[in-house]
Amino acid sequence: MKKCLNDRIFKIISQVADEEKVQVYVIGGFVRDIILNRPSKDIDVVAIGSGIAVAKKVAAKLGPKVKVNVFKNFGTAMIHTGDYEVEFVGARKESYRRESRNPIVEDGTLEDDQNRRDFTINALALSLNKETYGDLLDSFGGVNDIENKILRTPLDPDTTFSDDPLRMFRAVRFASQLKFKIEEETYKSIQRNKERIHILSRERIIDEVNKILLSERPSVGLKILENTGLFNEFFPEIAMLKGVDSVKGKVHKDNFYHTLEVVDNVRKNSDNLWLLWAALLHDIAKPKTKRFVKVIGWTFHGHEFYGAKMIPGIFTRLKMPLNDKMKYVQKLVQLHLRPIVLSQEIVTDSAVRRLLFDAGDEIDDLMILCEADITSKNEKTVKKHLNNFKIVREKLVEIEEKDALRNFQPPISGELIMETFNLSPCRIIGDIKNAIKDAILEGEIRNEYNEAYAYMLVKGKELGLELKK
Ligand code: ATP
Ligand code: MG
Repeated sequence: MKKCLNDRIFKIISQVADEEKVQVYVIGGFVRDIILNRPSKDIDVVAIGSGIAVAKKVAAKLGPKVKVNVFKNFGTAMIHTGDYEVEFVGARKESYRRESRNPIVEDGTLEDDQNRRDFTINALALSLNKETYGDLLDSFGGVNDIENKILRTPLDPDTTFSDDPLRMFRAVRFASQLKFKIEEETYKSIQRNKERIHILSRERIIDEVNKILLSERPSVGLKILENTGLFNEFFPEIAMLKGVDSVKGKVHKDNFYHTLEVVDNVRKNSDNLWLLWAALLHDIAKPKTKRFVKVIGWTFHGHEFYGAKMIPGIFTRLKMPLNDKMKYVQKLVQLHLRPIVLSQEIVTDSAVRRLLFDAGDEIDDLMILCEADITSKNEKTVKKHLNNFKIVREKLVEIEEKDALRNFQPPISGELIMETFNLSPCRIIGDIKNAIKDAILEGEIRNEYNEAYAYMLVKGKELGLELKK
């Protein structure tokens, strides 16, 4: 392990540790990531004594420009050096009360500090004192668990999870990010302790869900959130997607597993968190709109509209941003069937123009979502859809070049219409503007001033309007 501690920062911490006669260790995620060969820039340093005092001495040795940020309430101090963020803390012992996730904190030994860690793989420590430099302290078999790709709590999982229920989400997140398995007792304990999550803030839960969505195969984590019952606790709408109904032998597809496939497909092509949220939510209203119609079979009529309508409520409850990110997700959910419908028919220019007009800047992301949504088992169907998609994409490029519709600005303003026909504000102005827009989308006129002006005159005449003298 010594060779992993070659950076100057570790040598300096080591000097300070010996001068101050305190034991100092690198601990947690950084050590885990060395073994996993994963790049990591956050270093956690624990001192058996005052972490803040060590941090101040380290900063002084690093140079006059190096600042220490001290968080007295937490007993921690941060130093930013080169690529690294180093956090210093004194080793501590934590005891929890049931009703709160804020523990009573006392000074402790290294073992106390390792005991309060979430997983054995996150409880590894490397000594920095000269005599023992680079020695690994692995009280719980963390290295073994890394080799076997196992997530296990250092103490009884019921204690670890009940003390801080966020650890259950961290378990799922690491399972998804690292492709590790949650050990059986640990897994069962999540199922037992799931109701404890209600003492957590929604923001912290969502931080973990976001990390799951951004992992290479989000379905790994999302499946565990479902199977452990966690989804049911904080996001029952997702849990409700699961299951199939059958009437007279006709079944529909399981919308939960379909959603997982769509999220995975999107992740292959994008790391846009909000596009991944749109994928997770695209069919959210299917359970609500599900009907069995004789002759046709199962339908989910209007699920894209109801889905878009459900989103503000979901975002509010989960304390997610209620800004343009939410609007973006709503828009994609609402439009998610449009390119598919298009690709099932003969792809006309005007249909593509309307799609471009409605999607605006989101058109590329919408196309990623819709392609991801094709999850039929029938290879022929998939091929046909994807081929039609190719045509839609080609037409999109062609029409964009010609018509600049992506951020449509009406070529004729309301003022000009009023001025031309000597009108005061009234409904006719909106009607004429709409007629011009429709003519552009239908391809009757081009998206430019002269053709639109001529069209306005024709429309005005049809409506019996007179030109201003
Ligand atoms: P990443 O940085 O990839 O999110 P990490 O494991 O480094 O993963 P951090 O939040 O940086 O996570 O925490 C650093 C270390 O602090 C962890 O490795 C773990 O030892 C400990 N830790 C963090 N959060 C908790 C928690 N809720 N309960 C117990 N220990 C925790
Ligand atoms: Mg970290």
